[in-house]
Amino acid sequence: MKHSRLSAALATSAVVAVAGAGTAAATGVLFSGESGDLLSKKTLSTASSKRPPQNVILLVGDGMGTQEITAARYYQGVREPLDVDRMAMTGFDTTWSVKAADQPPYPPDYDPDSAATGTMWATGEKTIDERISQGPSSAEDVPGQDLRTVLELAQRQGKRVGDVSTAELTDATPAVLASHISLRGCQGPADMAACASETKAAGGLGSIAEQEVDHGVDVLLGGGRARFEQTITGGPDAGQTVIGSAQGKGYRYVTDAGGLAAIPNGNKPVLGLFSSSNMALEWTGPAASTGKGNAPVACTENQRPANEPSLAAMTDKALELLENRKGFFLQVEGASIDKQDHATNACGQIGETVAFDRAIGEALDYQRRNPNTLVVVTADHSHTSQIVSEDAADTGLPTGYSTNLQTKDGQTMSLTYATAGYNGADNPPVAAPPSQQHTGAVVPVWGAGPGSAAVLGTNDHTDLFDVLRP
Ligand code: MG
Ligand code: ZN
Repeated sequence: MKHSRLSAALATSAVVAVAGAGTAAATGVLFSGESGDLLSKKTLSTASSKRPPQNVILLVGDGMGTQEITAARYYQGVREPLDVDRMAMTGFDTTWSVKAADQPPYPPDYDPDSAATGTMWATGEKTIDERISQGPSSAEDVPGQDLRTVLELAQRQGKRVGDVSTAELTDATPAVLASHISLRGCQGPADMAACASETKAAGGLGSIAEQEVDHGVDVLLGGGRARFEQTITGGPDAGQTVIGSAQGKGYRYVTDAGGLAAIPNGNKPVLGLFSSSNMALEWTGPAASTGKGNAPVACTENQRPANEPSLAAMTDKALELLENRKGFFLQVEGASIDKQDHATNACGQIGETVAFDRAIGEALDYQRRNPNTLVVVTADHSHTSQIVSEDAADTGLPTGYSTNLQTKDGQTMSLTYATAGYNGADNPPVAAPPSQQHTGAVVPVWGAGPGSAAVLGTNDHTDLFDVLRP
């Protein structure tokens, strides 16, 4: 519904006439040069196309709200465009989840997690936090209805499918596409204590790792090897590890960047597990601390070990492996933007955002060569970091944890993390920053290619399902 309404609106000559002026001022485009042509007539007519695209690439920056992408933009230099700036269509999505209740309507929860928000874009339905592509229910440990996912619909149409993340592949964001389980923590066969009724031995679908392999996802690349090394306890593959089960189903298995690069194209699926848990960070820097924070420093870059592929390299290889006549659906997650935001590590967070932006660049370069490809970029929820005054003192200091970075423009950028750590009335925050909270703001959504006008305006993350589905 939303899609056709927006398409009709875009087809009006008034919109095209504004775009025809072609100046940065008229189009609202930040940067000149290549981006200045963002809203050509051809771009607009492609964006408002109602024909489903052959290929869909979704890139999810976990926790990459407007503050996080702006911090990465400013650190890199205010006059340096990001790859995401090549995308013409931009909108906002609300991300509220729901609270458990005995019956609908389920009350809104304004501060969601990646499981509930992922379920929204993957299935088009609201659910409770912690839940993976199942509907809401009366309590977290009461399984909901399994919901069909955009990946499953793409498979039904004969498309190839891929799921890529810098987190464990069993983490919530990659999990929502190819598994259904009541609690996100039930990641491997040995992690099923809280999901006892959903084990294979109990007649269920098994852990997230088992389900991802059982789905026959053509390309699975990321971290989380330890989950897949666990032993399956029920069903036909009982006694084998999940990796062994995958190999029995024809998966080609690799564990490092060289192994991934060497995999030839072919129909057999690929399982790449490049770290025992989350993949390594790109950058390091100081942790945030109370009061004024550290003296301004530049981040230490290039910290990822060479045996782990970058997110851009995984994206590039996934696209090569997935390309076929019937098309594909690929999800790419920059997962540790969120994880380093929780940890008040500004350099870790910004390094992951920059690496995620490079993966966006790979997707857009692919789209340039294969125009019948829709690229959508979003965050699953907003997060805690904020850019604040560098000159604050005394009672002007932020109440949370602060860090100061020297940007590539040679200036101080102060960031604060202040959504957890309060220690009672009139006390300072606890000295060691505890895990910070997600926030409830709308997230940005960018689109490029056929049908991308559907992201315009303010929508809900459940609407994204209709944009992504085949
Ligand atoms: Mg995630
Ligand atoms: Zn998080």
